[in-house]
Amino acid sequence: MRSIKSVYRIGQGPSSSHSVGPFRAAKRCRERFPQADHFEVTLFGSLAHTGEGHGTGKAIRRLLPECGLHYDFETTDLPHPNTMLFEAFREGEKIGQLRIFSIGGGSIRIEGDPPEDAETYPQKNFGEMLYDCYLENVSLTDFIWRAEGEDGRTYLTKIWAAMQESVERGLQAEGILPGGLNLPRRAKSLLEKRCYNEPPDVTMNRKIAAYAYAVSEENACENVVVTAPTCGSCGVLPSLLYYMQHDKGFPEEEIVDALAVGGLIGNVIRTNASISGAECGCQAEIGSASSMAAGALAALYKLSAPQIEYAAESAMEHSLGLTCDPVHGLVQIPCIERNAVGAMRAMTAVNLSRFLYATRKISFDEVVATMYQTGKDLHEKYRETSHGGLAMLYKN
Ligand code: SF4
Repeated sequence: MRSIKSVYRIGQGPSSSHSVGPFRAAKRCRERFPQADHFEVTLFGSLAHTGEGHGTGKAIRRLLPECGLHYDFETTDLPHPNTMLFEAFREGEKIGQLRIFSIGGGSIRIEGDPPEDAETYPQKNFGEMLYDCYLENVSLTDFIWRAEGEDGRTYLTKIWAAMQESVERGLQAEGILPGGLNLPRRAKSLLEKRCYNEPPDVTMNRKIAAYAYAVSEENACENVVVTAPTCGSCGVLPSLLYYMQHDKGFPEEEIVDALAVGGLIGNVIRTNASISGAECGCQAEIGSASSMAAGALAALYKLSAPQIEYAAESAMEHSLGLTCDPVHGLVQIPCIERNAVGAMRAMTAVNLSRFLYATRKISFDEVVATMYQTGKDLHEKYRETSHGGLAMLYKN
C-alpha cells in the first residue's frame, strides 16, 4: 500500500479526478515529450460528460495552452471511466502518445508505466494492519508514524495548515458561485445565523456544517483545497477537525495524529476499492470522506482500534449506494450540502462505536469490498456523468 501522503494533495478545485488529475497528466505529457510543439487531447467517459462543469479543459490548458481538446461521448469500452489520450506532435508529425487514467483523488496511472508511488505498507488491508498493531503492541497512530517517518508528520502538518486556510477563506467569502446555477455562498451566513435559545448540539452541528460549506464552496470556486480523499468531498474531514481544534481546544499535534488515521482509512479504500465518483458513485467520495472523518474523530477521542474500525465501517456502510449526479456537471448540488451531511454521519458513527463496537458483524474491509461491488453494479448514469438522478431535474 502506498504512503498516506498521496491521499492528501493540495490542489485547485473543483474536482480531483476531473481537474487535479488531468492537470498532473498534462504535466507528465509535457515532461515526456519536451520536443513537442503541439498536443491533441481527447477526453473519454465521465471526463467527456462532466469535464466542462468540472473544469477539465481549463486544468489541461493551464499546462498546454494551445492544445486541441476533444470530447468523445461515443466510446464505451474504456479501461477506466476517466480516460484521457494525449497525442504529441512536432512540425505536424505525431511523435508519441500517452493514455492516462485519472483514478481518483488527483492520482493518475499512465498506461504501461509502473504505479506513481512506491509501496510504504506491506499490509494489504485494514485487518492486516490491525493484526500487526496487536502483535507488536502499538497504537494505530504509532504504527502509521513508524511507516511514514518524521517526513510524514511534517507533510501532514503542512496539509493541516492548508485545510485550515481553506476553511477560513471560505468563511469570509460571499457572493454567487460560478457556473450558472446562481447558488449563493452560504458558509458565512450559516456560521453567523444563531437562532434564539439555540441548544448546544444545534450550535455544534451548525458550526461544523458552516466549516464543511466553507471548504466545499472554495472548491466550487476553483480555489486551493486539499483532497480528502477528493476535491468533491474535501469539506467533510476538515470541518470536524477544525471544530475540534478551534471550538473544543484539541491540540494541533493530536489533530495531525487524527489526520494520519483518516489518511490510512482513505488509503485502504483507494487500494482495495476506489475513491472515484466516476468509477463507484458518491459512496466512493463522500462515503470515503465520511469514513475517514469517523476514523479520525474516533482516534482523536482516543478510542480503541476496534472502535476506530467500527466508526469507519459504519460511516461507509450507511453511504452504500450513494449516487453521483451533479447538477450541470458542477461540484455544487448535491456536493456542497452532502459534505456537511457526511460530517454529521461521521459523528453519529463515532458515537455508536463507543457503545456498540463489540457487537458488530461486518469488518471495515468487508464494507470496502461491498462498496466497490456496489459501485460496479451502479448504472453509468449515476457515476459522474450527469445523466441521471438530480442532474435530470435541472437540465437547462
Ligand atoms: S455527487 Fe459526490 S461524487 Fe459526485 S461530484 Fe458531487 S461530491 Fe463528487
